[in-house]
Amino acid sequence: MENCIFCALAEKRLKPWLVLESDNCLAFLDSNPVAPYHTLVIPKAHFDNMLDVPVPVLQDVTELIHQVCQLYTQKLGIDSYQIFNNSGPHSAQTVNHLHFHILPRFEGDAIKFYATRMPELVKQYPEMLDKLK
Ligand code: AMP
Ligand code: ZN
Repeated sequence: MENCIFCALAEKRLKPWLVLESDNCLAFLDSNPVAPYHTLVIPKAHFDNMLDVPVPVLQDVTELIHQVCQLYTQKLGIDSYQIFNNSGPHSAQTVNHLHFHILPRFEGDAIKFYATRMPELVKQYPEMLDKLK
């Protein structure tokens, strides 16, 4: 897709800090990392996010995520990861080409994810689950 920065990386119109590549996916270092080896994994084909990606593509992405974690553990001894995706306008999605973050975590690192817990929601679970029927 034109004007998509991750399509440009996938098509090698821009050069990624490439970690691993499979037939359908790329893993590369984030250009504004929050940790050493902060990595993004994308399908080469353009999908906006989790809402439009077909399952087989997601399986390919998941396989490469797994390979990256294995590589970092074997080569670097990293033993902890947070793996996350932002999808949609009210998430923190800033690039509208599906991507998963692999964030290696280290003992005593300074990364903090703050979210206020809402235990009062538990009493609404029956109605919430009913809406899914
Ligand atoms: P998100 O906020 O989940 O959409 O994450 C987008 C990520 O893409 C951010 O962590 C950016 O630092 C990263 N990013 C943006 N442009 C590039 C680029 N050209 N190469 C590598 N990472 C990028
Ligand atoms: Zn794209």
